[in-house]
Amino acid sequence: MAGFFVVGPVRRRRAAALALVLLLAPAAAGWRWLEARAAADQQALASFLAGRVVVIDPGHGGPDPGASSADGLLEKDVVLAVALELQRLLAAAGAQAHLTRDADIDLSGMPDASLRERWRAAHRRRVEIARERGAEIVVSVHANAVPSPRWYGAQVFHRPGADEATRSLAAHIQRELRHITAGTDRQVSDHVDHYLLNNVTVPAVTVELGFLSNPREARLLAREDYQRKLAWAIFVGIAHYFAETGRPGLRP
Ligand SMILES: [Zn+2]
Repeated sequence: MAGFFVVGPVRRRRAAALALVLLLAPAAAGWRWLEARAAADQQALASFLAGRVVVIDPGHGGPDPGASSADGLLEKDVVLAVALELQRLLAAAGAQAHLTRDADIDLSGMPDASLRERWRAAHRRRVEIARERGAEIVVSVHANAVPSPRWYGAQVFHRPGADEATRSLAAHIQRELRHITAGTDRQVSDHVDHYLLNNVTVPAVTVELGFLSNPREARLLAREDYQRKLAWAIFVGIAHYFAETGRPGLRP
């Protein structure tokens, strides 16, 4: 759309005003406007995503529900919904998007073992899947819960001492979560000890979608439109990461 503007001396102020309107329009018209624009954006972003291999890891599953809200919304269900939508967006853009689980299943393969052993085995399996699929990046999706109901907001984590590419991936996703959900001013953090992040060699981040312990955010996290918004933010962050780190359209 940039070519649309003919910015001469007399038109510059009007163009600036129009640009401001375009910037503010998403906030004014809300998600519906953003969604309408999404189809065009998706086309543009696809050039950076074609052929890229992304492993999406919805946390927990099966006997491990993860965190939960006061009224029983389970982390394993919210993260799966967002992960499935993220996979759909990435696949539509030509990426190879693999999930570590695409249903409410136990990844351990050890149904008779103790819960702790199953939990460990499931984590090992997530790492194996990332390797088997040839992941270029890994995005693990979780939701938080803490004793205080006040905390809210989506936040991206990477392991301490992560390389520049990993920090870049985290920063791109965090930025889009801030812009698109408008529900957080949180910053990327490395205060995390996550088996998957510690055991894959490619850039890997955990996206904590929000706090199930915050009643208002828990209600949002239960909504399909908000889940789609979160998936879109992660999708755009991933696209920007690949736009920065690789040449578009050259990968098989
Ligand atoms: Zn979790």
